[in-house]
Amino acid sequence: MPKEEYNPYQELLYTLDEAGQKLGLTKDDYKILEKPERELKVSIPIEKDDGKVEVFDGYRVQHCNSRGPYKGGVRYHPDVDIDEIRALAGWMTLKCSLVDIPYGGAKGGIKCDPSELSQTELKKITRRYTTMIEPIIGIDKDIPAPDVNTNAQIMSWIYDTYSMIKGHNIPGIVTGKPHIIEGCLARQGATGRGVMITILNLYKKLKKDLKGATVAIQGFGNVGQVAAQLLKEKGCKVVAVSDVSGGIYKEDGFDVLDLKNFVGSERKRLLEYEDTNVKHISNSELLKLDVDILIPAALENQITEKVAKEIKAKYVIEAANGPTTRKADEILESKGIVVIPDILANAGGVIVSYFEWVQNKESVRWEDSRTNRRLKKLLTKAFDQVWLKYEEQKVSLRMAAYMVALQRIVETKKIRGIFP
Ligand code: NAD
Repeated sequence: MPKEEYNPYQELLYTLDEAGQKLGLTKDDYKILEKPERELKVSIPIEKDDGKVEVFDGYRVQHCNSRGPYKGGVRYHPDVDIDEIRALAGWMTLKCSLVDIPYGGAKGGIKCDPSELSQTELKKITRRYTTMIEPIIGIDKDIPAPDVNTNAQIMSWIYDTYSMIKGHNIPGIVTGKPHIIEGCLARQGATGRGVMITILNLYKKLKKDLKGATVAIQGFGNVGQVAAQLLKEKGCKVVAVSDVSGGIYKEDGFDVLDLKNFVGSERKRLLEYEDTNVKHISNSELLKLDVDILIPAALENQITEKVAKEIKAKYVIEAANGPTTRKADEILESKGIVVIPDILANAGGVIVSYFEWVQNKESVRWEDSRTNRRLKKLLTKAFDQVWLKYEEQKVSLRMAAYMVALQRIVETKKIRGIFP
């Protein structure tokens, strides 16, 4: 769908409303969720390396904090706008409720193209943005984390800037930090690991063997790379991957580790990868491949109505937030394609962020094995609850997930009441 016709926040509200009706709720029970609780728009001026001044737009949207402090990543991307950040914040509220961790939902972003910025410029943007949102964030208020085009280095700058303002170190202000400054080692791979766990849970429910399953992944960044690697370790054949430059296909499956090493931290373009029997494909061709598992792991609005009609995969696992439009979702459902929704499939990241925050608050460090064990436990519990609702109510897995999440938020709100 053209970006100007696509409003992800409206899409979220329609699905939320449907979930409310299916749960037999009245509008009064959940209308409070239709508007984010707080929205901050900031201007971020920096002096660039060539001495010129450029001013960027930044946002922090706090959707709902009934169940705990606001929590959500920060995205750096040229397409960032208020509707996108609102939707991402709302999905965080639902996601944290679904996996039952004590957080609400938030999201932040800066409209910029990081590929055109030097490290010094990125650092300046991050420090100025942190300073501008400092009044509304805090270890028990709102805790940022990485998202598209932000990483452990950027989280370190947020941590450092916030700590400088407050006059003492507050590592729990942000999650997804490097291990050496109280980051949780397992956080970087947590979302991709969660995607793998979700697929294992799905195959177990369907009593199917994952070995030899073919996989195509759109987006080979933090989430896509880890999901690819872990699925390969489980015996899957990763036959196609893509990035913003386009996609590559290899019928007998990629050596994912080699591919990851090639892309590296400087994010080399996948189209430059050379190997025998590799074919170049477009991002839309990748989505239409005849594979068992399709994993959109890039951005919203990728599986549109037009694309959905041509999807041949059996299972779509939404590693990205909001990759499937509502209309497309209906088409996939009518074709019998199983879609594991974003708020479940990619919840591994926020779960391990929660573990990092708990460790920071207590000044302790857990072993990675403990983190991964607990991640699996929480995700599997949420998966089972969604599956039960899906079977009982005969709704899609997305609707089942929204129903579980919404019910929990509404119950919390009822017990707490509306202030004053
Ligand atoms: P990233 O920046 O590390 O990687 C994004 C990847 O998508 C890159 O390979 C990029 O080239 C590619 N890409 C960008 N635009 C594209 C396009 N139009 N077509 C195809 N590929 C494109 O980001 P990430 O952290 O891996 O996040 C990916 C998705 O997962 C996002 O939707 C994000 O919100 C979601 N997510 C991330 C986390 C996390 O922990 N990082 C947690 C939950 C959800």
